[in-house]
Amino acid sequence: MTHPPTPTQLIDRFGRTVDYLRISITDRCDFRCVYCMAEDMTFLPRAQILTLEEIYTLAQAFAELGVKKIRVTGGEPLVRKGALELLQNIGSIENLDELVITTNGSQLETMAADLKEAGVKRINISLDTLDADKFKSITRTGDLHQVLKGIQAVKSVGFERIKINSVILKDRNHLEVCDLVQFAVDNGIDISFIEEMPLGIVSQHDRSEAYYSSALIKADLARDFSLVATAEKTGGPSNYFSVVGSQTRVGFISPHSENFCSTCNRVRLTVEGQLLLCLGNEHSVDLKKVLRANPGNRDVLKQAIIDAMQIKPEKHEFNIHEQPVILRHMNMTGG
Ligand code: SAM
Ligand code: SF4
Repeated sequence: MTHPPTPTQLIDRFGRTVDYLRISITDRCDFRCVYCMAEDMTFLPRAQILTLEEIYTLAQAFAELGVKKIRVTGGEPLVRKGALELLQNIGSIENLDELVITTNGSQLETMAADLKEAGVKRINISLDTLDADKFKSITRTGDLHQVLKGIQAVKSVGFERIKINSVILKDRNHLEVCDLVQFAVDNGIDISFIEEMPLGIVSQHDRSEAYYSSALIKADLARDFSLVATAEKTGGPSNYFSVVGSQTRVGFISPHSENFCSTCNRVRLTVEGQLLLCLGNEHSVDLKKVLRANPGNRDVLKQAIIDAMQIKPEKHEFNIHEQPVILRHMNMTGG
């Protein structure tokens, strides 16, 4: 019997090509950000999470199916033992154009040089405030100065296009948007503002009351900066603006106010090996099960990934005015 040739591109029912994979390599984290986690989290037992070898195998399978960019995230990816070696391995996969990471920055002071060496091309660092007390209250356990030292470390080892991610919450950090952009300008880095998404139940605030839209942020920034829209799209949800007179670009990720699903090019792999077809829906396929039931059989794994494209939903349906429908917290899927 002849089989049809394996496609080398992942295309969903809506004609979108999926060439970007985000992998959450751990659900654990040294911070407990109020919008991301509950204060008291139970993390997954080891047997339930993918091993580093399994993550590498999956990354290879995706690259063979046309994925060009992989973002390693978490939880805090850099607290997983063996993260550097995994990054090195993923970084050397043939056909992969870009390996990037998202981190809270706590480990960067010591790991920046090794990350560069491992082949990581770009780093996104979460930073919601420049006020040390507020930083502590948002992250519950984090130390602002450690993160600032981490940012300097990645600059000094030569990373380019470093980007800060800031989740803006009304009455917590919304008054700081200009200071954060000024920080980005002073450091020659980019910044994206993110509207909070209703993922998992959080205890410290009411998400509809804390909602601060991208439009409000833009209006606040207009008082201090001239922003010019750029045509640039990274294939992602961000709309970018350049700050006149600087190298800095400001992005806005607006899951509520501007739906970006029609150009979605990504899927996510959770630390449990679930392939999530959409951040805002539960549609998923258990790739860990496929992997463990068919050791060494890359073809079966690849077919499962190809088949999964048939259930990628058209768009997310977030509603911050209701209790979250999506019960998983962001640390399970990675941002
Ligand atoms: N620990 C790393 C970090 O904080 O950058 C990587 C994982 S974290 C889940 C990735 C991104 O998701 C961070 O920029 C974080 O601010 C964002 N995030 C977490 N929970 C969110 C939520 N409920 N809505 C929007 N963004 C969220
Ligand atoms: Fe940890 Fe990142 Fe979630 Fe904050 S946003 S708790 S740093 S995983």
